[in-house]
Amino acid sequence: MTGRAIIVGGGVGGLASAVALHREGWDVEVHERAPRISGPGNALTLWPDAQEALDALGIGDAVRACAPLHEHFELRRPDGRLITSVDVGREGEGPSPRVLTRSSLMRLLLDELPSGAVHTDSDIDPHVALSAECDVLVGADGVHSRIRTALFPASRPRYMGCVAWRGTADVSTDFHGQTWGPGRKFGVVPVEGEPAHWFACLTAPADYRLGAHHQELRSLFAGWHDPIPRLIEATPESEIVRDEVSQLVPAPETFAVDNAVLVGDAAHAMTPDLGQGACQALIDAVTLAACLRGAADPGQALADYDRARRRPTRRMATASRVLNRISRARTMPRARLGAIRIALRLPVARS
Ligand SMILES: Cc1cc2nc3c(=O)[nH]c(=O)nc-3n(C[C@H](O)[C@H](O)[C@H](O)COP(=O)(O)OP(=O)(O)OC[C@H]3O[C@@H](n4cnc5c(N)ncnc54)[C@H](O)[C@@H]3O)c2cc1C
Repeated sequence: MTGRAIIVGGGVGGLASAVALHREGWDVEVHERAPRISGPGNALTLWPDAQEALDALGIGDAVRACAPLHEHFELRRPDGRLITSVDVGREGEGPSPRVLTRSSLMRLLLDELPSGAVHTDSDIDPHVALSAECDVLVGADGVHSRIRTALFPASRPRYMGCVAWRGTADVSTDFHGQTWGPGRKFGVVPVEGEPAHWFACLTAPADYRLGAHHQELRSLFAGWHDPIPRLIEATPESEIVRDEVSQLVPAPETFAVDNAVLVGDAAHAMTPDLGQGACQALIDAVTLAACLRGAADPGQALADYDRARRRPTRRMATASRVLNRISRARTMPRARLGAIRIALRLPVARS
């Protein structure tokens, strides 16, 4: 079937859903409350199954052209000593993760949509959205989704005991990996020809009082190896993004109710440790469009989508939460690394 879809939220999940449905002949309308489509400009790891979804969205080759392979990963101690290094994948050696800036992904998705399909500065009330005239309403409004809250008031973001910062700094570095200290970690993702992207995580109780980003990050990572202090100093305060890492507890009972469907973080927000949230949002979008293809009415198609996506994303969210706990533990970096290897199914390891 085809028809009219209203999509609330213009993040990765919303734009990808719009592209997937538009390719099937749907009339799509995206509403994004922010004044422009962007999202924080840092890097996303795109795993091979997400790259297949990008192929289905018609932008796989364009992404591969500007997203270098995630070839090599190092794990270090705060003083810089190497714990281990891992080869993740090489060009021509089968499916491998790639790194793309979020802004590039958003631009490529936007380019696939007809002009006038995306409405920015458009904050949609969930009850208005749920009663709007359309064949399918897609709730792609992120972890704090008001569409989800209207459908499942009990399912709420629960703080996972960890605060994450991310930023982009005009600093040149060869370091690609993570540095683990007690209760905190710092990750660097260089993208060729681009400023370096970084993230930091801190184990902190819910009532922990945080200071200004620079003040906080300087004290947390004082004395850590190069390029960590340089990256912090070179990132403007206003461009550092801080998130309280959350997961939905309980998870929504279903991703589809009547003609409304949830995708991306609205359906299955997960901790960032597996680098899978945006990947799963891309797969949601492609699956949704495939389920609607050839369906006589949206009800059955959306139930099929729920069956296809709820279990795998729940398993991913659980694995990510476990990894989050392990990687922030205060001891045993080798045991922590072993768990990471198993979780990521990393192929070759060198110490
Ligand atoms: C530190 C960190 C690192 C990460 N790294 C990776 C990675 O490497 N790989 C990966 O795959 N994932 C990664 N993720 C996860 C990824 O960023 C998210 O899973 C992904 O962005 C979710 O996309 P989304 O479209 O579902 O939600 P969002 O990106 O949150 O988009 C939701 C949109 O809806 C809009 N909105 C909300 N309410 C309304 C409303 N009422 N009306 C209109 N618009 C509304 C918001 O403004 C927003 O633009 C990371 C996350 C973090 C925190």
